[in-house]
Amino acid sequence: MTFATLGLIEPLLRSLETLGYQTPTPVQAQAIPAVLAGRDLMAAAQTGTGKTAGFALPLLQLLAMEGPKVTANSVRALILVPTRELAEQVHEAVRQYAENLPLRTYAVYGGVSINPQMMKLRSGVDLLVATPGRLLDLFRQNALKFNQLQTLVLDEADRMLDLGFSEELANIYRALPKKRQTLLFSATFSDDIRLLAGQMLNDPLTIEVSPRNVAANTVKQWIVTVDKKRKPELFVHLMRKGKWKQVLVFAKTRNGVDALVEKLQGLGINADGIHGDKPQATRQRALDRFKASDVQILVATDVAARGLDIEDLPLVVNFDLPIVAEDYIHRIGRTGRAGSTGEAISLVCADEVNLLSAIEMLTRQTLKRQNEPDFEPEHRVPDTDASGQVVKKPKKPKKPKASGGGGGKRNLGRWVDSGEVAPAEPSIKPVRKVPVFNTGPRKRKP
Ligand code: AMP
Repeated sequence: MTFATLGLIEPLLRSLETLGYQTPTPVQAQAIPAVLAGRDLMAAAQTGTGKTAGFALPLLQLLAMEGPKVTANSVRALILVPTRELAEQVHEAVRQYAENLPLRTYAVYGGVSINPQMMKLRSGVDLLVATPGRLLDLFRQNALKFNQLQTLVLDEADRMLDLGFSEELANIYRALPKKRQTLLFSATFSDDIRLLAGQMLNDPLTIEVSPRNVAANTVKQWIVTVDKKRKPELFVHLMRKGKWKQVLVFAKTRNGVDALVEKLQGLGINADGIHGDKPQATRQRALDRFKASDVQILVATDVAARGLDIEDLPLVVNFDLPIVAEDYIHRIGRTGRAGSTGEAISLVCADEVNLLSAIEMLTRQTLKRQNEPDFEPEHRVPDTDASGQVVKKPKKPKKPKASGGGGGKRNLGRWVDSGEVAPAEPSIKPVRKVPVFNTGPRKRKP
């Protein structure tokens, strides 16, 4: 199969040739003809599958071939994304694909001055990439009209909900023309996503290119258990031992990012950090320098790093495990992309055992443990497995009772799920609940 057989026009084929894309990826093979035919789409595709081209190529073709010329302050196609970095990245891809087409494209996001964006929108743009908050600001200030809008794309829709954008999305939705084509892309299909899809999509074609909620299988994943306070030391040790060259590191909080970057820089290591509190220009500069290999270690929060495409990234380190298990999939999706192999290492302390359990349950695998001599934790990380159970080793084996219904060692010392029946033995109580990972709204800037 080629891009030509999918029905793409010659100016797009020329751009793809320049970019060296030869064969459509599975998501492109399914999405391109469907979008060209005018269908709504609900696509489960991990980042790294080529989904951006999957929606952008047919969208650009429709804009070039159909519809009226764009008028002042209008937009004909809108791509909503969760973060500023992703807005830049998606727009850069769109710009490259549209190289040979007479279309105006642009990206708007918060954290930078709104005035140049208002100026640019005056003459109208065919395709606009936007984060929801800034888009609404522009709309409310009459810098944008949606009367010409023919297509809406929700990219990384699950992430937009995680970041608490559901109200903004509802407000945008109310302002859009009812007759339009809508494409929804999401790494995972949660109940909230299905609800959103139910409201926004019309008889959508469903595409699922990778098994739902399963982490990229091209990534070798393992964990090292360690005491919380020794994580920075272990990180430096592993970095030196493994001679790491380019590593994307995830920390849970903004403070965590800053503290690790400071520690690494103090040791003369070439490190930088990105998180929601840093000005956009600083974030972009750190990212560009990391991509150009001028920075060796980039430490990031989930929000700042979501969806970033960094070519041939060999290694991702989870300095902290994510609070939301699905973020694990997004994090490790930064490596092992486009068919190459990668590695993802997680430093796990005893406090994080329930997060680990949730990740293993979601990805349906028990992560291999590799202990590092001299770093064995004083606070042991209880054993976990893909069933979502946290197995707490009993100190002393208890004698099974002669009677007592089901008896034996069933559920011995296990941390049980809230939905489970308590063990039959009266002497053995459930120790702790394994929390269901949180899919509810979160703060926008961790
Ligand atoms: P995405 O999942 O959209 O972030 O894309 C991941 C990476 O794959 C990007 O660097 C794209 O430029 C690249 N890519 C997308 N489609 C193709 C293709 N058909 N052939 C080669 N590379 C591709």
